[in-house]
Amino acid sequence: MADIIKLLPDHVANQIAAGEVVQRPASVVKELLENAIDANATSIKLIIKDGGKSLIQVVDDGIGMSATDARLSFERHATSKIQKAEDLFDLNTKGFRGEALASIAAIAHVEMHTNNGQDEMATRIKIEGSAIVEQEVCVAPKGTAMSVKNLFFNIPARRNFLKSNNVELRHITDEFHRVALAHPGIAFNFYNNGSEQFNLPKANGRQRIVHVFGAKTNERLVPVTEETQVVKIHGYIIKPEFSKKSRGEQFFFVNNRFIKSPYLHHAVNAAFEGLIRPDAMPGYFLYLEVDPSSIDINIHPTKTEVKFDDEHTLYAILKSTVKHSLGQFNMVPAIDFDQDPNLDTPYTYKNKEAHQPNVTVDRNFNPFQEVAQKQSGVQSYSKQSVEGWENLYVGLGSDAGPQGDSQSLQFESDTITGSIFENQQENLESIATTFQLRRKFVVTTIRSGMVVIDQNRAHQRVLYEQFLRNITLNEAISQQLLFPLSLTFSAVEMVILKDIKEGLTTLGFVFSKMEGEEVEIKGVPLMVSESEVPILLDELIADYQREGIENSFSQTDVLSKTLAKSLAVKTGEVLNGNSQLALVNDLFACKESGVSPFNKPIYITITENDIDKKFI
Ligand code: ADP
Ligand code: MG
Repeated sequence: MADIIKLLPDHVANQIAAGEVVQRPASVVKELLENAIDANATSIKLIIKDGGKSLIQVVDDGIGMSATDARLSFERHATSKIQKAEDLFDLNTKGFRGEALASIAAIAHVEMHTNNGQDEMATRIKIEGSAIVEQEVCVAPKGTAMSVKNLFFNIPARRNFLKSNNVELRHITDEFHRVALAHPGIAFNFYNNGSEQFNLPKANGRQRIVHVFGAKTNERLVPVTEETQVVKIHGYIIKPEFSKKSRGEQFFFVNNRFIKSPYLHHAVNAAFEGLIRPDAMPGYFLYLEVDPSSIDINIHPTKTEVKFDDEHTLYAILKSTVKHSLGQFNMVPAIDFDQDPNLDTPYTYKNKEAHQPNVTVDRNFNPFQEVAQKQSGVQSYSKQSVEGWENLYVGLGSDAGPQGDSQSLQFESDTITGSIFENQQENLESIATTFQLRRKFVVTTIRSGMVVIDQNRAHQRVLYEQFLRNITLNEAISQQLLFPLSLTFSAVEMVILKDIKEGLTTLGFVFSKMEGEEVEIKGVPLMVSESEVPILLDELIADYQREGIENSFSQTDVLSKTLAKSLAVKTGEVLNGNSQLALVNDLFACKESGVSPFNKPIYITITENDIDKKFI
């Protein structure tokens, strides 16, 4: 048989490598920013268009390249950063694999201007799908300007796989944050579609965090420092009361490189235990310095995962350091989240005097004296009335006799739908008795038994459908605030807020200003109180970040879900009789009363039959 193995041509090999290095526009941004940093730039500009799909440009004032280097830089395994394998264990640069430029040039239209400040002239190179299209001398300031256009132009499948411009922009912004936070000493500018997103002057670590995440962040930061033989740690944690439900502000840098480490995250989480709600995430910006020979960065092409020699020690040090900082700043547990809400005094009893209970004993009581009891008018629990058992709860105000029409209602299965109430919707009020069980469930009777309703989920469903209706029909009513509410947000949060502004407006929010970091709110939906607004908006932003909303349909959906989740009555809240009834009525008037907006069952039914079976 003839030989069949062939070496892949370079452009094919490069395209394959690109599959690992370049997943989306944000990966290009990361590689180009890191090259600029490795070139000792003091000021870096990032310019993108259409979520980076049509243009990503990075301009630096670094060391630049000679004409030969400029040409070589696009070859695979071409790097100035390491020379021999041992260098891998003493890395002081971001890059070292020498494949980023080769990969990017294989799947996009790339143009580079570079000037090393020594040669007379600068170099301009144009390269498309690994092929050099033009190379010439030109005039350009010292440094390098790279522009990457039409990403994945020759791999339609990858191009189609990209998300909307907004989602890609968010990924790019994340990368930008990571690089900018790791290098506060470098000035950064970031423009998107011609408008300035960030202007970050050279600063110290704390200022950089504040410039990126907004002025309100400053008061939320608690410094962290520790020096041991294994690791030096510095940075900030966010005060526990400001921890969010999103994974937004969690940054580990090892030797000035952003890394992802679930293991170290766990260490920080453990230090925060008891200080934040179980569903919240601590915020942190932690910079670790370790001996470069004690880590391996080359375990993944994107270099965001690191292997540490002594992970366990690092874990222990990190946890105790963070704990220590929390302790120093007097952040001892203030809230006991595990407290059983049933131990609280119900609101209705608060501020009331305690009375000595009056006990009267019927000394003539004889449990076997059936007739006598009946005569005395006491409700009998005896055998005859078993068929009309629901009278135990229902009978008080009801005129439906024990035999009434209870037989006419037949269940086909255990799960009921809203329809079982249909023919009796109007008189539900008169026949149904409700009560609250453990401040968590509303129990109501139906002809064939009872329904146990999760109060929180039920209310979520009611509100969710109401919000959806309001948005679709545009009929929300808003209440004017006496004084406009002024709130500040970070640049990223502002992008999201602007995205969802329209939806919020249809819900009843009235914005009088949305500029820079500031938002001014003049009106809020009727059911939202002013004090709830900041939390509500924070939660909305977090949900949007998590879900990466694509189209307006899912936008409306997430908006309604988040509002419903935030505003619904919670487990542990006491509901009075009227509220219970109203909730039941509203729930069964919903289009889909069986499941919550988050697809959890809302109620279960227990039929007389079920109960009978228990008594066998
Ligand atoms: P790596 O960064 O892993 O070395 P790259 O493909 O990213 O590989 O870059 C190849 C080489 O091109 C780098 O080693 C560097 O010498 C040169 N280079 C890339 N970008 C720049 C830049 N912005 N300024 C100066 N030199 C650069
Ligand atoms: Mg590089």
